[in-house]
Order: sequence, then C-alpha cells, then structure tokens
Amino acid sequence: LDDEFLKDNNENSENFRQDKILPDLETDMPSRAWRRMSEKQTFKTVAPLNIHSPVKPDCLRFVCLSDTHSKLHVDDMSKFYVPPGDILLHAGDFTMKGRPLEIERFNEALGKLPHKKKIVIAGNHELSFDDSLFTEANCFGESIGTVERYLKTKGLKSVRGLLTNAIYLQDSMVTVCGINIYGSPWQPRFCDWAFNVIRGEEILQKWNWIPENVDILITHGPPVGHGDVTKAGINVGCVELLNTVQKRVKPKYHLFGHIHEGYGLTTDGETMFINASSCTKGYKLCNPPIIFDVPLPPGQ
Ligand code: 5GP
Ligand code: MN
Ligand code: MN
Ligand code: MN
Repeated sequence: LDDEFLKDNNENSENFRQDKILPDLETDMPSRAWRRMSEKQTFKTVAPLNIHSPVKPDCLRFVCLSDTHSKLHVDDMSKFYVPPGDILLHAGDFTMKGRPLEIERFNEALGKLPHKKKIVIAGNHELSFDDSLFTEANCFGESIGTVERYLKTKGLKSVRGLLTNAIYLQDSMVTVCGINIYGSPWQPRFCDWAFNVIRGEEILQKWNWIPENVDILITHGPPVGHGDVTKAGINVGCVELLNTVQKRVKPKYHLFGHIHEGYGLTTDGETMFINASSCTKGYKLCNPPIIFDVPLPPGQ
C-alpha cells in the first residue's frame, strides 16, 4: 500500500462521503495517520486560563483533573491546589491499581472539595472497575474474594458504589444545568490494563455509543494529534476518536489524560482539547488543574 493509495482510500472514497465513520486504514500507525490528517485541518495550542481568574458572568466553571493516581490529598493545598468552581471533572486514573482503599481515599478527597458536582470516569489503572477483569483472581493485587467480602460489609455489589461523592460515568451521560457531559473509559490497548480495546473497528464501536448532543466529552485517552505525544516523540492517540469528535459529535470540549506528558490545551477551531493529566510521566502530582467557563444555556 503506497501513500497515494492510502490517501485516496481514506479521504476521497466512501470513507469520506458516508456520514458513518469507518476505521482508518492507518489506525495502527497514529503518528503517520496524524501527519496525513493534520495537513487538512487547523491546529493550535492554547494558553490555559489562570486558575485564580474570576468566573465569567452567567457561566459555570469547570475544574479539570486527570491521572491523580492516589496522590490527591486535599488537606495540604500548598502541595497541589485545586481551585474552586461549580463542577469538578476527573478523566480517570485516580488510583494506581483500583484497590478499594485507594478508591475510598480518593472519594474522601473529593468529599472535601467545594464543587457542587464531581464527575468521574475510570482509566486503565482502575482495574476493579472493568467487569471483564473482575472475574480474574488477584488482578489488582488483592484477591477478588477479599474485595467481594469487603463490598458486602458495605452493602455494595461493585466498587463503583465506593464513589459516593461523585457521579460516575461509563459510556453514559449526565446533564448539568442543560450541559450534556458524556464519559467513557476505553483506550487503545497498551500492556493489558483495564478498558483496553483494539484500535480500529473495536474501539470505534465504543465511540459509536457517544450521542451527537454532547457538549463536554470525557475519555481517558487522547484522540490522535491532541495531547498524545509521548516522551519518545510519537503520537499514540486514537484515530477513530478524533474522527468521531470532528466528523460526528463536535463537542465544545474534549477532556482526557492518560498520556501524562501531553498535558495542555489545543484546538481545531471547533473543539477545545484538554489533556488535564495532573501527574507527570514520573507520577509526580504537579500539573495544575485546567479550568474553563461555559455560558449557562438560556433559562438555566
Ligand atoms: P498510565 O500507566 O498512567 O496509563 O500511563 C502512563 C504513561 O505510560 C503515559 O504518560 C505514557 O508515557 C505511557 N503510555 C500509556 N499508554 C501508552 C500507549 O498507548 N503507548 C505508549 N507508547 N505509551 C503509553
Ligand atoms: Mn454535537
Ligand atoms: Mn495515568
Ligand atoms: Mn492511563
């Protein structure tokens, strides 16, 4: 397959004419796919808003975190300051292994934060949230039996119930003051962690569940081209996710984390892409939360 053929097949033929998004032929080579795709679109990096700035009038303030990896201890705000706001969003990897104790500590930290609503998705580190792994003994360093007995003492069937201070989204949506927020934990397979799926058709099926009326999309992993460059200098984001965002869903904001070194904001002119990874590549909690203000819809 030469370059011309791929170009034709991806952008001029059925793929492009149909409303339906098809898997990209170069999906397994995201750097290469992005080089091709980036020629035909706007791409800009965006400076983050000062986290101490006042909220714009008639707006809701969103405060974004991701990849806090069991390091969020809000008792000492001098170490990691979480600014106030209306809604806190967390794009997954709030633990290292998804152990109940880690989930409870994260939930406690959330409880101490002032935001009226906290919306959380899982990442690949939340092993116990992935039903397909929960059947495997010791998948996260504790025997399933021990975890199940522990949950039973709390009257819970699943670890999700431990997140009492959050709205947990998993391929689901919540509407807050007229703003639709959808969350999804899936990412392209890497080292067999939770919510891993194969690039192409399989991951596209997950993205096909995202409804069109989403204003804020939260996924754990980045789309290709935005906040997805690793230390090695390669893009590892999901090609099908970028196509879904740009061609079909067109949310105002797309929040994610997962590639810690991709922290920051970028835009394609229609969607603001936010990699809010709070931890660095070395799992040090020091990237400040990213904030944005959304005008309240009429009547809210
Ligand atoms: P985490 O283990 O917290 O999900 O990801 C931590 C780091 O692992 C990321 O910052 C990134 O450096 C690396 N990583 C995660 N997923 C991928 C991937 O799909 N490909 C590559 N090359 N590195 C990844
Ligand atoms: Mn839309
Ligand atoms: Mn992470
Ligand atoms: Mn991750």
